[in-house]
Amino acid sequence: MPVAPDSRSPYRVDLIQLDLLLAAVCRAGYQLIGPSIKDGAIVYDEVSSIEELPVGWTDDQEAGRYRLQRRDDRALFGYVVGPQSWKKLLHPPRQLLWKGRRTDGGLETIAREEVTPRRAFLAVRACEIAAIGIQDRVFTQGQHADPIYAHRREQALVIAVNCTEPAGTCFCSSLGTGPEVISGFDLALTEMIDESGHWFMLEVGTDRGGALLEGLEFTPVTDTERRAVHQRVDAAARQMGRALNTKGLKKLLYDSYDHPRWDDVADRCLACSNCTMVCPTCFCTTVEDVTELSGEIAERWRRWDSCFTLDFSHLSGGSVRHSTRSRYRQWMTHKLATWQDQFDSLGCVGCGRCITWCPVGIDITEEVRQIRAHPVAARASR
Ligand code: SF4
Ligand code: SF4
Repeated sequence: MPVAPDSRSPYRVDLIQLDLLLAAVCRAGYQLIGPSIKDGAIVYDEVSSIEELPVGWTDDQEAGRYRLQRRDDRALFGYVVGPQSWKKLLHPPRQLLWKGRRTDGGLETIAREEVTPRRAFLAVRACEIAAIGIQDRVFTQGQHADPIYAHRREQALVIAVNCTEPAGTCFCSSLGTGPEVISGFDLALTEMIDESGHWFMLEVGTDRGGALLEGLEFTPVTDTERRAVHQRVDAAARQMGRALNTKGLKKLLYDSYDHPRWDDVADRCLACSNCTMVCPTCFCTTVEDVTELSGEIAERWRRWDSCFTLDFSHLSGGSVRHSTRSRYRQWMTHKLATWQDQFDSLGCVGCGRCITWCPVGIDITEEVRQIRAHPVAARASR
């Protein structure tokens, strides 16, 4: 029997009720951002109803390969992750920092960063919640907190979705970052299509999420339904396309500075920086000043940068990392080793994007496997 939600026990929600819930989110003043199809990929964009979601689509992912395919059902969340992550909204690719106008003998500020609307992120996967947690540490803790990120983060409501069908490039379960959403969400959904119909298990993670259910009526899930959901998510954990062995990883990479595998990867890597652009944890930026041709208006912008660009490590006298070998080594060693010293975690959550979107299919899990498999070569090359 439907009841007014008054606790954090999970509910069974059908398609109509989910649409009502999304309408309630919008009525509460949130701009709803969710998955939608654009240019042959699933991206995050403004949506207002379940009809705008990628209904009946899935994604086929392998190293250097991404294709949308039709499913034989009308699943709303039957794909994994696309090229974009929530980083694009919390830590945008281009960000105005300051704008000023020349005055008689001086300069006046006419704009700083814009005010961000309250946003609800729909269908945030477990690996992405882990990535947001990492960026929270980078941007809001420590000596140099970023007020732009902090404001955007505060404004964000997280509606998570448990993964039930991982992609061929996923390896979150070996990193403990998925596929089940454990924390860090306001509301969480698990999509089920079975003999009882098309339904979702809805869990409440915070009071803010629970408040959105006011006025709606849902049926508590039965023990059997709850078991079925957990079995589906457990099965997803066993179906990961890849795995990353993290045992002794930091030392392994610190000891492998001169490993010949870096030459091998440099022969294939285009230094295109795709892997850093799609990565939900990479955070490096550069700052650019631009002026109008009249010289009246000046702006300062922050934009994403990458350790794969030659300019990124340019100091007086030239670039510190002039070879592709040194740039790939820097990226992977930072992600998997020095990140641990800096932020007390890996810089990787196993989303697989860098594998899928690398134009030549370079696979971070395979690079680690090769280095681990040939440690003697590393010592011999010193
Ligand atoms: S590893 Fe792949 S995606 Fe990354 S810079 Fe090299 S070629 Fe580009
Ligand atoms: S390094 Fe690759 S797999 Fe790991 S979080 Fe970044 S994009 Fe995802």
